[in-house]
Amino acid sequence: MWKKDNYDVIVIGGGTSGVAAAIAAARTGADTLVIERLGTLGGQMNVSGPPGFAYANLYNERHERIIGGIITETHERLLEAGHALPHLEPDFRGWYTFAYVDPDWWGLLMFEMMQENHVDLLLHTLAVDVVKDGSTVTGVVVEHVSGRQTLHAKVFIDCTGEGEIAARAGAPFEVLPKEQMEPHSLAFTADGVDWDKVLRYVKDNPQEFEFERFLANSQHQWTYEELIERIRKVDSIVEFGEIMGYRSIKMKGLETGEWHGFSGIGFFLIPREGGVIQAHFQHSSQIGNCDATNVEDLTYAEIECRRQVVIAWKFIKKYLPGFERAYITRICPELRIREGRRIMGDYVLQAEDVVEERKFPDVIGKSAFPAGAVHVVGPGTLESMVPPMLLKSGGSHDIPYRCLVPREIENLLVAGKAISTARAVYQRFLMQTMVTGQAAGVAAALAARDGITPRQLEADVSELQRILVAQGAILTGTH
Ligand SMILES: Cc1cc2nc3c(=O)[nH]c(=O)nc-3n(C[C@H](O)[C@H](O)[C@H](O)COP(=O)(O)OP(=O)(O)OC[C@H]3O[C@@H](n4cnc5c(N)ncnc54)[C@H](O)[C@@H]3O)c2cc1C
Repeated sequence: MWKKDNYDVIVIGGGTSGVAAAIAAARTGADTLVIERLGTLGGQMNVSGPPGFAYANLYNERHERIIGGIITETHERLLEAGHALPHLEPDFRGWYTFAYVDPDWWGLLMFEMMQENHVDLLLHTLAVDVVKDGSTVTGVVVEHVSGRQTLHAKVFIDCTGEGEIAARAGAPFEVLPKEQMEPHSLAFTADGVDWDKVLRYVKDNPQEFEFERFLANSQHQWTYEELIERIRKVDSIVEFGEIMGYRSIKMKGLETGEWHGFSGIGFFLIPREGGVIQAHFQHSSQIGNCDATNVEDLTYAEIECRRQVVIAWKFIKKYLPGFERAYITRICPELRIREGRRIMGDYVLQAEDVVEERKFPDVIGKSAFPAGAVHVVGPGTLESMVPPMLLKSGGSHDIPYRCLVPREIENLLVAGKAISTARAVYQRFLMQTMVTGQAAGVAAALAARDGITPRQLEADVSELQRILVAQGAILTGTH
């Protein structure tokens, strides 16, 4: 619970980056507070999500483990408690590997971990402004039912997903014109699915689905026929992880006007207790041309996406084999924002850094996720996802600490999807948000302890790296 108005480290935003940042800061000895606008923790992971391929690409294409630390700790704990599936690398998936977790139990675990690590929480609280002394952030102004107040810390970490605090502090950022932004989605989950029927349909009609999507530019040189052969051998629905396409069903729906035409059809699998699997539709109601930094656009998008859910669900029940008796268990309470601001930091990660698998002396974590895999809106959405630029030898690239340090502002770090990158390498996937969150947490705690700014820490990151490794992070190796 929140107990005072002055901390070593204040984390704004309790999504995946925020919880990782808070745990890491507390474990490094900092007195830490998380401020969160909602009554729960998790952000897009479990409020507007869950992400389809939840803990994806913890391994690179060469099957070497490249990500560790808090993200793997949470996966292992949920696995042991029966709320997750093991990390899967099905032999027809190309570069895409994944580990599914139950999003609701994930959220409960986060509360447990906050308590274990003595992190204070201030929920139902919106950060609305910052207080600065020159270019140094000294406070954050918040609003909640008890009124307006200013909270102080030695170091702040912006984990709002949209770089809200860094932008308000005056840090430079990039945001695309809304016509070019990726679409945002309103996700929904269904139960009551006849999975045997779904599995049969997929295996009998593999050409209807987008399995080849993950082979483009991959190290795996299977022919399309070999891929289909592998798919026909799958004997558990869980191995698919996601099922996208229903190509001819969708085309028919577009012709008759029964499908709304703003996205593709498909879903991800969510593991629930006792082996239950639910279908999570996160691309079947979505909207482009929506500026995530404009409240009018966001309001319109929420309304339009709900209209699409109604159309999509009627269609799914009528035409998707296995969904005849399915029912919706949850419509996410808010839009899932795919793209917003990228805060410009002391280094801007580039597509070449990813493709060339570049290493940096100030590495704080790795990623094997390709560059350029952006979604576009329209009837062909999923099929026309821009073919990604894969890492050249199936390895990984480093994420430098400098990507977390916003230019022109002191005492502030950014973690999560708003860190400093070019658009093509927007680090918006869960594993990346937790990797950067953990690093920002340790860095903030060290800066607070030593009375230096996060930028001054750039001069010597050896202790930061040593602590990250001690906390399970993977920074070095041939990968
Ligand atoms: C449609 C879609 C599909 C996706 N699919 C996948 C996938 O399959 N796999 C995957 O790994 N990733 C996926 N992602 C990406 C992933 O879900 C997000 O990038 C990740 O969850 C972002 O984490 P974050 O911590 O940066 O931000 P968020 O999760 O957005 O967390 C930000 C938190 O800050 C809070 N907040 C915001 N502003 C304030 C404020 N002013 N004051 C207080 N609190 C505030 C919010 O309430 C929220 O809890 C997907 C994203 C989208 C949109």
